[in-house]
Amino acid sequence: MTAMLEATGLTAGYGPISVLEDLEIHVDEGEIVVVLGANGAGKTTTLRALSGLIGSKGRVRFGGVDISRSKPDARAKMGLGHIPEGRGTFPFLSVEDNLRMGGHLLKGRERHAFDTWFELFPILAERRKQAAGSLSGGEQQMLAVARALMNRPKMLLLDEPSMGLAPMVTASLFQKIEAINQQFGTSMLIVEQNANLSLKIATRGYVLESGRVVLHGKAADLLDDDGIRRAYLGS
Ligand code: ATP
Repeated sequence: MTAMLEATGLTAGYGPISVLEDLEIHVDEGEIVVVLGANGAGKTTTLRALSGLIGSKGRVRFGGVDISRSKPDARAKMGLGHIPEGRGTFPFLSVEDNLRMGGHLLKGRERHAFDTWFELFPILAERRKQAAGSLSGGEQQMLAVARALMNRPKMLLLDEPSMGLAPMVTASLFQKIEAINQQFGTSMLIVEQNANLSLKIATRGYVLESGRVVLHGKAADLLDDDGIRRAYLGS
């Protein structure tokens, strides 16, 4: 299996504050991998360092290419999409315009991409003229995913997609994420609080504590792990 994304010795922080310490993390081609951890463990910081939004030390390779020193837009052009916490859609723009802006790396192929994502998210097709800010939380998260997909990324970094969503809505969102992964082969690295649902669609998972990987393994094994069950699954 070839690694789609591979970080070694990843060290990052904010000014004098050190957050990530020598992190090793990889996602193979076509995999869904989950990053779990308590508040403040460094999950969001990991995604920011991987997409280049913050500087980091260590090495990041994407599709076999060293991108450690590449700017965020260069990483996006290579096919590394990042959906930040809070979704990052434009509330005053319509669903359609949000998608159009998402597809800025594609140019002439926009329309085709539109139809594909409307098929996958029929609710967005129904609401295509509606302002993004007037959508429900679940619909906004679907829009954020569809928007990122407009660029046909090889891989998506998703930051807490289930935040603020009811369990049923989260379950349906995760089904879509799994469908995208299977249909398009998009690799995914998902930071999540909802360990139960996310591990069910994932192949592997990592647990972060104070900016370090303290546990990693197959998703099925993590779901069975007593420590994980107590810390993240409420049992
Ligand atoms: P959460 O689940 O609460 O989002 P997290 O695991 O994603 O947590 P991070 O957001 O990566 O954690 O934060 C890790 C540490 O870095 C925390 O101690 C946080 O206070 C600190 N931190 C995050 N963003 C900044 C920033 N912009 N400036 C300074 N410190 C920050």
